[in-house]
Amino acid sequence: MRFENLNLHSSLIQAVKDQNYSEPTAIQQQAIPLILKKNDVLGSAQTGTGKTAAFALPILHHLINEKTNDKRKIRALVVTPTRELAIQIGDNFTDYSKYNKIKNTVIFGGVKQGTQTTALNNGVDVLVATPGRLLDLMGQGFISLKDIKYFVLDEADRMLDMGFIHDIRKILNELPRERQSLFFSATMPSNILKLSSQILKSPKQISANPVSSTAETIQQFIYYTNKSDKKDLLLYILKDKNINQLLLFSRTKHGADRIVRNLKKKNIQAAAIHGDKSQNQRQKALQSFKDLEIRVLVATDIAARGIDIDKLSYVLNYDIPNESETYVHRIGRCGRAGETGVSISICEPEENEYARDIEKLIKQKIKEIQNHPFPQTDKPMNAQQKKESEKEKQRRKQEFFANRNKKRSAKKQNSRNNYRK
Ligand code: AMP
Repeated sequence: MRFENLNLHSSLIQAVKDQNYSEPTAIQQQAIPLILKKNDVLGSAQTGTGKTAAFALPILHHLINEKTNDKRKIRALVVTPTRELAIQIGDNFTDYSKYNKIKNTVIFGGVKQGTQTTALNNGVDVLVATPGRLLDLMGQGFISLKDIKYFVLDEADRMLDMGFIHDIRKILNELPRERQSLFFSATMPSNILKLSSQILKSPKQISANPVSSTAETIQQFIYYTNKSDKKDLLLYILKDKNINQLLLFSRTKHGADRIVRNLKKKNIQAAAIHGDKSQNQRQKALQSFKDLEIRVLVATDIAARGIDIDKLSYVLNYDIPNESETYVHRIGRCGRAGETGVSISICEPEENEYARDIEKLIKQKIKEIQNHPFPQTDKPMNAQQKKESEKEKQRRKQEFFANRNKKRSAKKQNSRNNYRK
């Protein structure tokens, strides 16, 4: 199928050509005709399938064709969980509006609101927002949702994971009843379906790349190793100069920082993005990564969720996630929209069973790299050892927090003493 056959406005076809999209992706082929016919849509699709264009193009088509009075009003609202996703969706709308007059703006928290409110005051047709900042600016009177005709709830499952359910309900209460709604989620557990039924009217269901099917264009490899060897194994893998841009997943923020420190010590340019980093730091890291100034971007799952990097070829799992779906999301960050990609996982004994769960979910064996210098020689712990190791972890955690609290109160006392002096 070609974009020309989708009956989209000519300015959109032109813009898509500029993006070098040769044909609509599976989700676009399904969604665009339905949305053009003004159906509500329940879409099961993850980032990387082309889902943004699947909703943005037909919404823009409607907006272009509608007659409006002089003053611009927000007619389309896209709510998405993270700042990164919001920025990317806004960028896509801008790309596709290159040859028409539809304006969009993006709002998200963690930054000053001045530029956002100025953009809103100048008038926009499409608003892309994260829930918190949207409610905040609605509360301050900068935004009214009464003219919304098209509403998109993006990454609904992640939205609920991040605890946005109350915010979403508040937003829904302000939306006009007469509207077209589109609801996208990577997974469709029962709480998501329930929420969708409160938003959508007689929706058409579509799906692309359900979470259990990993993209066929991604080659998957796994190294079995010991926990203590992971650091060196990573350096060994990075000797391959073909890997010029690697997105590395770490389960924890501290782990992510540690990996970055170790890489930097070996003169490998790296940066971390996770929830403790400011919006500026995250955007700067992402930009340097895109510009190939840093070779390894280390991300936690939530931070990585919104990242879209054109033609990302390599993803590395520094740990094997215990939820198999997380693995599928992670490796979906490469080999996007028809490009080839390579996923490399490094697995310590305690994670062997997670690797087996993943293979069950994706219904294929991940190719094991056998002849490498750091083979797995340790055995997974038995039940007793696991219990003891958990206890030890708890003890160390308590010690860490006790020390931190001691240091904090000493600091406070010090500054009080200084103040008195
Ligand atoms: P998304 O799933 O919306 O995050 O899109 C993933 C990536 O695919 C983005 O970089 C898009 O620019 C790109 N993309 C979207 N539609 C197409 C298409 N029809 N052909 C090629 N690339 C596309």
